Amino acid sequence: MRSTSDAARLGRWLMVFQGLTIGLSGWWVSEEDGVPWVVFGAATAMVLVGLISAALPWRRWDRWTTAAYPHAAMVVLVALGVGAPSAAPAYVALLTLWFMYVGVVAPVHTGLRTLPAAVVTFVAMQRHVGPEQVVRLVLAALIWAVLADVLALRAAANLDRANDLQQQAETDALTGLPNRRALETTLATLSPGDVVLVLDLDHFKQVNDSGGHDYGDQVLVDFATTLLAVVRGRDQVARYGGEEFVLVLPQDNGLGLGAASVTARLRQRWAEHYPHITWSGGASCHQAGADPHLTLRDADRALYRAKEAGRDRVLTNGFDDVLHGLQPAHARAL
Ligand code: GH3
Ligand code: MG
Ligand code: MG
Repeated sequence: MRSTSDAARLGRWLMVFQGLTIGLSGWWVSEEDGVPWVVFGAATAMVLVGLISAALPWRRWDRWTTAAYPHAAMVVLVALGVGAPSAAPAYVALLTLWFMYVGVVAPVHTGLRTLPAAVVTFVAMQRHVGPEQVVRLVLAALIWAVLADVLALRAAANLDRANDLQQQAETDALTGLPNRRALETTLATLSPGDVVLVLDLDHFKQVNDSGGHDYGDQVLVDFATTLLAVVRGRDQVARYGGEEFVLVLPQDNGLGLGAASVTARLRQRWAEHYPHITWSGGASCHQAGADPHLTLRDADRALYRAKEAGRDRVLTNGFDDVLHGLQPAHARAL
């Protein structure tokens, strides 16, 4: 299971399945002819709610809101148990599924915690309970609880594994920064006014040639660490590839002031450690309705112009003035 939205989808389909099960088994065990109307009504309602909600684009479901489905089913179950005791055995199947579902979506050991609820529900359904029924009930409830916990443990392990894999796939192995793939996700959420800044170390081939590849690697790791140190909390940093990094600076209001302060801090902090290695940057401000990839391309073009103009500077697609005062002196003179 990859996410709670998958869990929610599973829950909705289980609810449909629960509805069908209760309808069919209610009809099967009923002593009267036909399905008791309460059973039929509840089964229909569950199928409809499950189908409709499966078709709706729900978002932002966490584990607890997802658990609302089985809890709603549980309330229906108790009402049915009290209202139509003749069809009570039909709900055993429903209860089983309910526990399976809770075991899958809710935190581990919920199954054991819901054991008392199972006992109370079953008693409510039976109305007249003898010792034999109590023994059967407790045994059945125990099996459900253990089953639910086993499922929950498996689901939690799967979720952890899936999260680990996703994390690995979106992390750059050398610097630990989000990689190009992760940047795609960030780009998709760009808002007007956000600034995309592409940074590239100058003459990095020479750095490798003179200091060796391992030294080059260390420079890249230090550049990543410096970037993380100079950005603000909501800024995103990614290694785009090679010695190229991308910053996404949200809500810059098109003024580039955030980009200016981040670049100024970076310039100062980096020069303290590596005065002999410079970097260049290109910035672009995202416009309403624009394709985020075009915003990135504009930043890349600005970077290219910065390289052409002599490196060790930041150029932009429209707010160079803001950055002008922050350029190194030789670039300002140009
Ligand atoms: P420019 O100022 O025009 O950017 O020159 P440059 O030499 O930095 O440009 P170029 O993009 O041609 O060279 C980038 C170099 O970065 C080439 C490659 O060997 C090196 N590089 C890319 N990835 C890594 C890495 O992970 N580790 C190390 N040590 N070097 C890398
Ligand atoms: Mg370079
Ligand atoms: Mg490069």
